[in-house]
Amino acid sequence: MKYYDKLIFELSKKGRTGYTLPGGNVDAPALPATLCRQSDLHLPEVSEVDVVRHYTNLSQMNFGVDTGFYPLGSCTMKYNPKINEEIAAMPEFAGLHPLQKNLPGVKAVYEGMDRSLAAITGMAHFTFKPCAGAHGELTGLMIMREYHLRRGDLARTKIIVPDSAHGTNPASAAVCGLEVVEVKSNADGLVDVESLKPLLGPDIAGIMMTNPNTLGLFESEIKEIASLIHGCGGLLYYDGANMNPLLGVVRPGDMGFDIMHLNLHKTFSTPHGGGGPGSGPVGVKKELAEIADSVCVSGFNGNFGVILRAYAYILMLGKENVKLAGPLATLGANYIKESLKDAFKLPIQRVCKHEFVFDGLVDDGSSTGKPGATTLDVAKRLLDFGFHAPTIYFPLLFHQALMIEPTETESKETLDAFIDIMHKIAKEAAADPDILHGAPHNAPIGRPDETTAARNPILKFFDEQCAS
Ligand SMILES: *Cc1c(COP(=O)(O)O)cnc(C)c1O
Repeated sequence: MKYYDKLIFELSKKGRTGYTLPGGNVDAPALPATLCRQSDLHLPEVSEVDVVRHYTNLSQMNFGVDTGFYPLGSCTMKYNPKINEEIAAMPEFAGLHPLQKNLPGVKAVYEGMDRSLAAITGMAHFTFKPCAGAHGELTGLMIMREYHLRRGDLARTKIIVPDSAHGTNPASAAVCGLEVVEVKSNADGLVDVESLKPLLGPDIAGIMMTNPNTLGLFESEIKEIASLIHGCGGLLYYDGANMNPLLGVVRPGDMGFDIMHLNLHKTFSTPHGGGGPGSGPVGVKKELAEIADSVCVSGFNGNFGVILRAYAYILMLGKENVKLAGPLATLGANYIKESLKDAFKLPIQRVCKHEFVFDGLVDDGSSTGKPGATTLDVAKRLLDFGFHAPTIYFPLLFHQALMIEPTETESKETLDAFIDIMHKIAKEAAADPDILHGAPHNAPIGRPDETTAARNPILKFFDEQCAS
């Protein structure tokens, strides 16, 4: 452990200060004893330079798109243009009160965003209230439910969700009070139309899908699926969290979807991760616009600062360049897939869209007599080389899933560097899987017990230790 990896309380030395103040000439007011603290406040006592080093080192223990390549499949970690931040920080925007939402400039941002997203997606209108992707799903399903209720159709209590769906889909459906019916994928990783047919009936509210699906594959039967769902009286919901591959290529509205959400914090470059503010605007077809505006899931009108950043990104690219995003995201993903399929198992051999899934190593090193290296081991070893790990063990269709999404914003040189390191790791695994089992070797911490770390985190330094 490096000296400055210590906690700030461990750096503390009694009586040390990080500041100097001139002596006061005002007497302290007399406060009633009951209001006064009986023991000293436990604060670290450190010099200024120790404080600076402490926080600078802490900031460097983090990993984000601003520090390295982050190929997290199904999460679209694309770069965050700094122009977005400059615009969001302008005092004319940053200083607004939420109740000033009717100022002409604010309205222009919402209206411009509504028009842009409608043009990109083929929807008629967006509501900006939802503050995350899952929040958008819930909003979209509430719109769907309200649509059926307004028609006096009370029997539609079920929603169809493919087995490859993002976990938030069934969760949002459950929160909305809908019963989830799963539809299976076929051997090609697509929704199995024959398995879908028997599920249809007067109790179906609709289907939740994403296209390309969570395996990064384009659902080529989407037109037929749409006509089957509409034919039984249901609506189609599109999960557009990661819409990069479609930008400027095809539009969910044209595929037959009625309701959708977008993650501005994925597809449209605003920062995300760590639970930071997100935005999951929901778009609908014209007949649903009035219902969409009547569903209220947050105070005010969503996360204005996030919407503003995404609008800056869209305007910066312009119509012509937005169209490049989809093909570039697709090209990057296929380039990595083809370059690494000698070393990693590729269960679905097709042209992918923005992401794809490997199913573990071709040679996991178990022929050495040692336990073979797993997907988790590969992910941990990547950290040693300064790359964030891809999404692992999702989707659940494969046991050793390793889901890679490079996004359209990475250079070929970065993709090549990642491919080289993945090959190096595969060679290490084949020769001596223990190198991977012990990884990460260079990170601030090794392998925490992930269940304990999530369920039982120790987040404070105990008083006894402070006192000593
Ligand atoms: C990220 C993601 C979501 C959920 O978005 P949050 O903002 O994390 O709630 C939903 N669907 C898909 C496909 C996603 O990738």
